[in-house]
Amino acid sequence: MSIKTLLTWFEKQGRHELPWRKTSDVYHIFLSEVMLQQTQASRVAEHYYPHFLQKYPTLQNLADASLDEVLGDWSGLGYYSRARNLHKAVQLCKEEGLPHDFKELQKLPGVGRYTASAVCSFALNQSIAVIDTNINRVLKRYFALMDDKLVLHKAEEFLNKEFPKEHNLALMDLGSLVCTPKNPTCKECPLSFTCKGKNEPEIFTCKKKTQYENLELYLGVCLVDKKLALVKSSDKLYKDLYVLPPVEPVEEDFIASFKHSYTKYRITVSLYKTQTTPLEARYFSYEELLQAPISSMTKKALQFLN
Ligand code: SF4
Repeated sequence: MSIKTLLTWFEKQGRHELPWRKTSDVYHIFLSEVMLQQTQASRVAEHYYPHFLQKYPTLQNLADASLDEVLGDWSGLGYYSRARNLHKAVQLCKEEGLPHDFKELQKLPGVGRYTASAVCSFALNQSIAVIDTNINRVLKRYFALMDDKLVLHKAEEFLNKEFPKEHNLALMDLGSLVCTPKNPTCKECPLSFTCKGKNEPEIFTCKKKTQYENLELYLGVCLVDKKLALVKSSDKLYKDLYVLPPVEPVEEDFIASFKHSYTKYRITVSLYKTQTTPLEARYFSYEELLQAPISSMTKKALQFLN
């Protein structure tokens, strides 16, 4: 009964307007799922997803692009390892296309259980339980589970084998719109009648506290003929992106400092004028910077330099 009520609710209240809900193209769904990892749907829907599809309408187009170009288009979306893995994955699948198999998909770089299940369910309507943070929370509350390890088994039992895609999407939307982390609106919930956790939903919420790390960066600003020196980063945080080169701070060369948050890092960035740049530095004009693969931290620094 709850399963049917859930689908009726989804039909009326689901987020059908999301652009990746209007297609069953495996490449399009794969692209959207990689972008949606740890990123709000509205940011992906408004710019990045349509931009990528316009520029790289086929998997082959994306595979043929250079990594620099892909990182440039990804600029501002964060978690750049996703872009590098996406590029590697489509290159591996250039000849035969993306696999239509749950296990095979997980062999691709950066593809875990969630992304593989989402592609198999949303693009191919395969009978596989999808579990993202929203679905995890709904199921934990609905079945009153104290332990995350029990969720997969329950999700598989609860899966609507006749309409697996709609069922997974419905749970996802329910978690996003009704069974929210704080103050779920149980009165409006299609599962309310049989929900075991509705009296104390907060108990069954996973509360993973993020452990933040503080970082201090001293970055050099070197302009030659109105071109700015940047170097290709090799560290884990901004690998393959162009960043301002690190410098030893000298008080009289100080320009400005600002705060920036990125993944688990709380970064204090201080900018200093410098004449010396590493040999491998590349010089970018203002127009080139608009297209270059740079991080949002570098973009923020540029605002100070304006
Ligand atoms: S009844 Fe409340 S706690 Fe239970 S699934 Fe619905 S919104 Fe979540």
